[in-house]
Amino acid sequence: MKIAVVSGKGGVGKSMLASSLCFYLVKNKRIVAVDGDVDAPNLHLWLGQDERWDKKRKISVFEKPVFDLGKCTGCGKCAQICAFGAIIMENGRPNLNKFICEGCGACEEVCPVGAIKMRPVVGAEVRIKNDVFGFPLVSAQLLPGQTGSGKVVDEALIVADQFSYQTMVIDAPAGTGCPIIAVLKETDFAILVTEPTPSGFADLKRVLGVVDHFGLSFGVVVNKWDLNPTYADKVIDFAGKNFLGKITYDQKIFSALSALKPIMTTDLPAKKEMEEIFNSLSQRKVFGP
Ligand code: SF4
Ligand code: SF4
Repeated sequence: MKIAVVSGKGGVGKSMLASSLCFYLVKNKRIVAVDGDVDAPNLHLWLGQDERWDKKRKISVFEKPVFDLGKCTGCGKCAQICAFGAIIMENGRPNLNKFICEGCGACEEVCPVGAIKMRPVVGAEVRIKNDVFGFPLVSAQLLPGQTGSGKVVDEALIVADQFSYQTMVIDAPAGTGCPIIAVLKETDFAILVTEPTPSGFADLKRVLGVVDHFGLSFGVVVNKWDLNPTYADKVIDFAGKNFLGKITYDQKIFSALSALKPIMTTDLPAKKEMEEIFNSLSQRKVFGP
C-alpha cells in the first residue's frame, strides 16, 4: 500500500501530515517513509532527525554534452539546434552553459564530426536512515543547479521498495510537474493538503487534475483552517465527501519543528486533529485490513 501526502503548493503542511502519518501507522504496520520532495526535502526534520544519514549515495539521472574540441570544426550546428540557447559559439568554438542545458542530446545528434558525447552527470543524492522511531526513511535531494527531479523521485521510490514494508508513506513534491507525476503513478491513495487561501484552493484544483488522471482515490485536509474560516468552508464544500478533516493554525508547531520534536510526540491540538483524520481513514480501510 502506498499513500502519498500531496499538495498543489508548498508550505501548506504536507510534511507535517506525512510525518504524523508515519507515527500513526508504525504502531500497527511495517512502514517505510519516503521524502519525495527532492527540491527541498525536509521530512527528516519533521521526524525529529538531523542531517546525519546511515547511507548516502550520489546518483546520476541526467546527461550533459562533453565537447572534444580537437575534433570540432566550429561549424556551429550544435548552437543552432539547441532550443534552450545553452551553446554559444565564441571564437569559433562552442561554449556550454551547463545550467541551461536540458540534456536533450540534440547537439550530439547533429554534430557532423562526432565531437560531442553525452555523459552522465551526478545530479542528486539518495540518503537513508535505517531506524527512525522504528522505520526506515529514504530521502532524495537534487544537487544545486541540477534538473531531472522526476527521475530522482523514481530512484528514491525504487530504493524504498527494497525495504520490507506493508505501507509506504510518501511526502510528495508540491506542484503538478514531473516529480508529482513520478509519485502519483505509484500511489494507491492520495491525501491532499491545502490551506484556506485563493492560491491554496487554485493549486488544490490543479493537483486534483493529476490525481484524477491516475484515477486515484483521495481525501482533502484543510490546514490552518481558522486563519480564514469562510474560505475554509468553501474548500470543504468543494471537497464534499472527500473532505477528511481540518487542522488548526498553531505557532507552537513551528517551535516544535525548530526543536526537532515531531508533532505526534507533543500534546498540541494538531496532534489530536491529525489522529482523528487518520482514524477515519483507518475505519475506511484506506490503510489496509
Ligand atoms: S543537450 Fe540539448 S539542451 Fe543541452 S546543449 Fe545539447 S542541444 Fe542544448
Ligand atoms: S556541431 Fe560539432 S563540429 Fe560543429 S561546432 Fe558543434 S561541436 Fe563543433
